[in-house]
Amino acid sequence: MRCFSCHRLSLSLICQTCQERLFKPSIKKRQVGQLEVYSFYPYSTIESLLLLKHKPQGYRVFNYLAQITFRPFIQAYIAEDSRDIAIIGVDEKIKEGYSHIACLSKQMQTAHSHPQYASLLSQNSIKYAGKTRKYRENNPRDFLYTGKENIDAILIDDIITTGSTLSQAYQVLQKHTVSVDFALVLADVNE
Ligand SMILES: [Zn+2]
Repeated sequence: MRCFSCHRLSLSLICQTCQERLFKPSIKKRQVGQLEVYSFYPYSTIESLLLLKHKPQGYRVFNYLAQITFRPFIQAYIAEDSRDIAIIGVDEKIKEGYSHIACLSKQMQTAHSHPQYASLLSQNSIKYAGKTRKYRENNPRDFLYTGKENIDAILIDDIITTGSTLSQAYQVLQKHTVSVDFALVLADVNE
């Protein structure tokens, strides 16, 4: 097959060279209101991969990215903290046969962390890509939460831009007495 990043022949999804040079994750923390958000890459580093999210190849790419970022992160986290924790992906709607956010949540499954799939869905189809903060504030995503109440959770998304989406998701979860430890995203646009 060919490397998804440089298109040279490769034995794996991302060739050894790209894995070492480009895709070494480095964790950054950002504060959005009361919510702490951890990201693994500057957006520009993995943009070509993230743009595959509504294409059939995206399924393998998102699984792969989550395996080298979210998975080691949650394993280290539960090693220190043995509470049961729900994994809540933001808007796990299915497009092209899969949800790219659910690919990320799935890699967070451990003995103590359990994905609660599609439990936080936007009730409209408003898109924030390329829109200003003002637009985002005036056009809420209108999330509906249908998962369990009185639980601890980690919130999952692919990218953070202004933080509007995560902040809206966080507020809805708080109303349902879901205590969010923090949010994890693959990439930060402002990094
Ligand atoms: Zn490559």
